[in-house]
Amino acid sequence: MDIIELINKKKQGKKISKQEWDFFVRGICDGKIKDYQTTSFLMAICLKGIDFDETAHLTMAMAKSGQMLNLSDIGMCVDKHSTGGVSDTTTLVVVPTLASLGVKVAKMSGRSLGWTGGTADKMEVFDGYKTDIDTQQFKNLIKQNGASIVSQSKDFALADKIIYKLRSDSGTTDNIGLIASSIMSKKIACGAKIILLDVKYGSGAFMKTLKDSKQLAQTMVQIGSRAGVKVCAVISSMQQPLTNYIGNNLEVYSALDVLGGKQNDLFDLSTFLCAKALVLDGACKSFEQARQIAKDAIISGKSKQKLRQIVMAQGGDVSKIDNPNLLLPKNNVFVVTAQKDGYVSKIDTAKLGYLAHDLQKVNGEVVRQDDTGIILNKRLGDKVKAGEPLMKVFYNKLDNLDEIRTELLKAYTIGKNVNLPKLIDKVVE
Ligand code: URA
Repeated sequence: MDIIELINKKKQGKKISKQEWDFFVRGICDGKIKDYQTTSFLMAICLKGIDFDETAHLTMAMAKSGQMLNLSDIGMCVDKHSTGGVSDTTTLVVVPTLASLGVKVAKMSGRSLGWTGGTADKMEVFDGYKTDIDTQQFKNLIKQNGASIVSQSKDFALADKIIYKLRSDSGTTDNIGLIASSIMSKKIACGAKIILLDVKYGSGAFMKTLKDSKQLAQTMVQIGSRAGVKVCAVISSMQQPLTNYIGNNLEVYSALDVLGGKQNDLFDLSTFLCAKALVLDGACKSFEQARQIAKDAIISGKSKQKLRQIVMAQGGDVSKIDNPNLLLPKNNVFVVTAQKDGYVSKIDTAKLGYLAHDLQKVNGEVVRQDDTGIILNKRLGDKVKAGEPLMKVFYNKLDNLDEIRTELLKAYTIGKNVNLPKLIDKVVE
């Protein structure tokens, strides 16, 4: 068996067998398959697709590429994952809220992928926070604090760590089989028996349509059921950023805002996800009662207190939790203003995500600068007058400021008709 054979097979649209997926995953982990061969194979997968059986085989091979955790000594654990979006900080609200209510959460996160943000990057906004810890520490932290948030590593889902980065850098992110295997391999390896998925659709998601997001949700639910875990997928809108804050520091600020009691789309989606988990875990019988309990935990400050504990236990500095204003950028700013009167009828959310990444570029390369970002002044359906600010943009140094300003303006469509999307569309379980 060799990788060129597999690339050619997929290029012709043929099915890859279980043995071949195992060979591929082994090869990338031991370095025998080179990055350029992997990206070529990933592109063939994107162009020709993989069916359900292939996705399930790839998922299991990836899950087994690191340790498969057994959390039975801790008890029933929940894990949560989003398929990726812009200003999508639900983990920072959901994980501490569930943990504060006695639900154990074992959360393996990813980094920024394509134009979307990554939870692991956001946790590192707390100086010193370690996302790369070993399995024993991970288990100890869940036992002690009720939750831990880590990232893929050589111990956990190594194949996903390798493929994830290559997908992000090679335009091969938006394929149902690759997304499902990436997410479910991490979730299965992590050992939680209840998996809560936030499946996004719309202009800022990998799945642009509701139909595709449903197919992605069904694929992941079925893979979970084959692996003996309960999966619940909530399909939610990414037709606009989840909050008005884009960029690592700003997104953490927006999560802390909600943990401080602010009620917005992030609050609504987070409490919905928490309620689903509380019912699946058996902690609550009724969804409505569970949702109220989750809301109370947030409003009373219990969730924020738990986040502080989780961050501190993983080596993070909590001064930004105690004083969220430290997260607000103090650097250069420009304002993008509306060119005409009307209503915000469309937002190109992926474009905003890409441009937020561009604010971090130095000589064409993205250099992590957590203090850059965008604060939106207008959301879908808002009335606007020509000259009014649409957004404020924070940057350190930009060579192409005019170009970025023009592109940001194109991300907003001002029109007469607005079709407001439902925040939560459907649940697949
Ligand atoms: N999150 C992941 O972990 N993988 C994907 O492919 C998309 C979102």
